[in-house]
Amino acid sequence: MSRAMKRLAVLGHPVAHSRSPAMHNAALAELGLAGEWSYEAIDLAPEEFEPRVRAMPDEGFVGANVTLPHKGAALALADTASETARAIGAANTLSFASGEVDADNTDAPGLLAALPESPRGRRALVLGAGGAARAVVWALVREGAEVSVWNRTAERARQLCEELGGTPAPAPDPTGYGLIVNSTTAGLRGEDPLAELPLSADGFVPGQTVVDMVYGEQRSRLLAAAGSAGASTVDGIEVLVRQGALSLEIWTGREPPLETMRAAARARL
Ligand code: NAP
Repeated sequence: MSRAMKRLAVLGHPVAHSRSPAMHNAALAELGLAGEWSYEAIDLAPEEFEPRVRAMPDEGFVGANVTLPHKGAALALADTASETARAIGAANTLSFASGEVDADNTDAPGLLAALPESPRGRRALVLGAGGAARAVVWALVREGAEVSVWNRTAERARQLCEELGGTPAPAPDPTGYGLIVNSTTAGLRGEDPLAELPLSADGFVPGQTVVDMVYGEQRSRLLAAAGSAGASTVDGIEVLVRQGALSLEIWTGREPPLETMRAAARARL
């Protein structure tokens, strides 16, 4: 590898399944930057994370995406952090160009960019109270949506709302919301999300937008049901593409080629 190569990476554990290297390398090629920039996946156990990040600038890295389980640690070790990263309590994007470690969070604006229309003034139901839900609730509250939060463990939804805004909804009626976002892991291990969440196949209505942050090889059962009922659907790959595009823009200052990134993220491995 050339000494002048500008390196990027996604840091996670596990991370081998990540679509980010394919997505970003396709984008770098489309932008004519493939000879100068490269993007790789690096698996780091929690105890390896901080020392490795601190060594990265000397290894030619100019930035990194951060995924589970390191998003909190990434914020904690950063020298500077954006307001979004601080409010959410997690960073998914690190930049080393300034000589310091600068942290940002593109999950929140990525979710907003993936929506077909602004959530301002809409009633929104967020399912979940983990890391992804925190970014979603923060983004929607800040954008002016009227946010309700349901979580399997109700106490966590209450705590999240206390911190970030929104109202806990222990027994929501899904037909009453213009926007529904599944930010739980329900569906990830093959379970039926409609059985695990306060949703049913006949509980979706036309005019609704339904987002499923969980993504896999196939369209989720949740989005299939929502689409059949006439709702607009947004899948987790589109949210992934949008957060990746915003990270790439931070690092390169170039406009990200969204169609190329979508095609690469959706290509079968
Ligand atoms: P996390 O912090 O581990 O939180 C998991 C959440 O899922 C908790 O609210 C948990 O509820 C809930 N949950 C787990 N199993 C459940 C079940 N069987 N029924 C109902 N609720 C259940 O995970 P995370 O980081 O927030 O990630 C959530 C999902 O979002 C993952 O699938 C991740 O891949 C996805 N994600 C996608 C993107 C993207 O760009 N598309 C970005 C970030 C995350 P309890 O509190 O009751 O345990």
